[in-house]
Amino acid sequence: MTSISVIVPLYNEQESLPELCSRLFGALSDPELHRCFPQGSFSFEIIMVDDGSTDGSVGLIRQLMATSPEIRLISFRRNYGKTAALSAGFRAATGEVVVTIDSDLQDDPQELRPLVMKIREGFDMVSGWKRERKDPISKTVPSKLFNLTTRIFSGIPLHDFNCGLKAYSHELAASLDLHGEMHRYIPVLAQWKGFRVTEIPVKHHPRKYGKSKFGSSRFFAGLFDFLSVMFITRYLRRPMHFFGMMGLGSFLTGLVISLYVTVDKLMNHRPVSNRPILFLGILLIILGVQLFSTGLLGELLSSRPTRDAGWAIRETANIPEKTLEKLVD
Ligand code: UDP
Ligand code: MG
Repeated sequence: MTSISVIVPLYNEQESLPELCSRLFGALSDPELHRCFPQGSFSFEIIMVDDGSTDGSVGLIRQLMATSPEIRLISFRRNYGKTAALSAGFRAATGEVVVTIDSDLQDDPQELRPLVMKIREGFDMVSGWKRERKDPISKTVPSKLFNLTTRIFSGIPLHDFNCGLKAYSHELAASLDLHGEMHRYIPVLAQWKGFRVTEIPVKHHPRKYGKSKFGSSRFFAGLFDFLSVMFITRYLRRPMHFFGMMGLGSFLTGLVISLYVTVDKLMNHRPVSNRPILFLGILLIILGVQLFSTGLLGELLSSRPTRDAGWAIRETANIPEKTLEKLVD
């Protein structure tokens, strides 16, 4: 088995790639790192996941592959987003320890060893914490807000949920099922599945080349994904508990209102036609039935496994036959 798989999601990062690779190879040849694994058994792979780059990134990776057989390539047909790139990487990873790192040199490859050592201590996930973040204020302030809300709602005491630098046990990496822009919430999903999650401070650098790939639209995407993560971690396997409860509440309230109006009419001869509350009763009954049906549909859907990964691969290189099957599954 491979000791370490490094997953590098990249989207138009050709300027950074040569330096990133040489620094990754440097970090991976550290004898201290090799000591984390049984003697003489150390091996690694670097999985480059090209997320539909339109610059020379893929050509550059091919050049690097010519001299480094440890590099593997998965190239998407178009830009699907970082979550899809990571998720393809997780499927292809064969390492006992799986590390993800951004390709723009903002994350430091030197942090690989401390991350891997934490996993070898018995944790399933170690998240980097960019204690001194080197980004413009338009990024750091929203990020603080994002981390605070996620910390409060998930109850997981991490400072930095969305650090590109993270390490995983093979088991956890293989069990992650990501979609949307969910890479921001991987620690939440992991902890919810019962894996041991922790964090360590890591160095962070300003972006050297190119520009950030995440604009302001990420705030909304992030909000919706937050809602789905909350839903997934609590109600994915039992949607009826969520919709059914609301539906029942609404239906019963509506029923009580309608009964009251009816009884009032029969006993006290008050006309029904000029009573606004009647409409509230009707509305609540209909709403209740609708919520209930949504819950039922949810139950039906959640009992069926989906097979669509949500992305399509244009080409791969140096990916073993067996792994390939997992990718196109
Ligand atoms: N990335 C990607 N697909 C995308 C957007 C980003 O693979 O659609 C990669 C990008 O190449 C980088 C990492 O994800 O390696 C983090 O992106 P970026 O540096 O733009 O984010 P920031 O550091 O500004 O939050
Ligand atoms: Mg970056």
